[in-house]
Amino acid sequence: MNPEALSQFSLVEIFFLRLTANTIVTALFVVPPFLLLFKIGRYTFTHRRLHKSLPGRKQLWMEIRYSVSTLIIWSFLATAAFYLIQNGWITVRATFSTAVIPGILAEWIGMIIIHDIYFYGIHRLMHHRWFFRRVHLVHHRSHHPTPFTSHSFHPLEALLEAAFFPIALLSHDFHILAMMLFILTSKGINVLGHAGHDFFPRWFAEHWLFKYLNTTIYHDMHHEKGRLNMGLYTNIWDRLFGTMYSEYPEVFRERKEGSREEVKA
Ligand SMILES: [Zn+2]
Ligand SMILES: [Zn+2]
Repeated sequence: MNPEALSQFSLVEIFFLRLTANTIVTALFVVPPFLLLFKIGRYTFTHRRLHKSLPGRKQLWMEIRYSVSTLIIWSFLATAAFYLIQNGWITVRATFSTAVIPGILAEWIGMIIIHDIYFYGIHRLMHHRWFFRRVHLVHHRSHHPTPFTSHSFHPLEALLEAAFFPIALLSHDFHILAMMLFILTSKGINVLGHAGHDFFPRWFAEHWLFKYLNTTIYHDMHHEKGRLNMGLYTNIWDRLFGTMYSEYPEVFRERKEGSREEVKA
C-alpha cells in the first residue's frame, strides 16, 4: 500500500473513515440475519431456533450499545495500523496478478489458523475469575445470542481481540486481499456462532472431519452453560485442552431431531 496515498488524510479523518467503513460492513453482517431470523422470518425459522423465547428489548439495546463501543475501539486500532503503514513500520502488499493468488490463499488460511489459537487463548483468559466478573460477563449477559451479540464486548475485551490484527501485520507483510478475506471470514463465523438458529446438517457434529469445525449449537452451549466450548472456528484446542462439553455431539443430535419433530408437527 502506498503511504503517500494515505498521507492526504489526517489521523482524525482516517479514524472517521474507518469507523464509517466498519459500521457499514458490520451492519451488513448483523442486521439482515437479525431481521430475517428474529423479525420478518420469525415464524418461518421457528424449527431452527435454539431457544423458545425471543431476546428482549433490554438485551438487544445492551448489545447495540456495546457493539458501538467495540466498533469505536476497533477503528482506533485500525487508525493506529494506518499510522504504522504511513511511517513504514507495516508494509501491506497491494499488487495483483494470478501469480499472487496462491500466496493470498495461504496467508488467508494461515491467519485463520493463528487467529483460532489466539482467540482460544484470550477466551480462556477471559474465563479466569478476575476477568470474567469485570470484563467477559458483558458478552455472557446474552444467554440467548442474536447476531448483535457477536460484537457485544467489554471495551477491554474488544481491544484484546482486535490486537491480533496489528500484531499479525507487524509480523508479516500481508497482501491486502488476504487481510480483507480474513476480516470477512472472521466476521461471518462470529455472526454465525451467535445466530440463535442452527442451519448445519444433522451429520455435521459426528463427521470424521467436519466435527472439528464449530457450529452455532456449539457456541450457543457456551452462552447457555457459560464455561466450556471456547473455540471460535474449530474445537481442536477445546479437545486438546479438555475444555469441550463431552455431551456436545448428543446435544447437537437431540436438537436436530427436535427441530425435525417440530417441522413434522
Ligand atoms: Zn466466554
Ligand atoms: Zn459468544
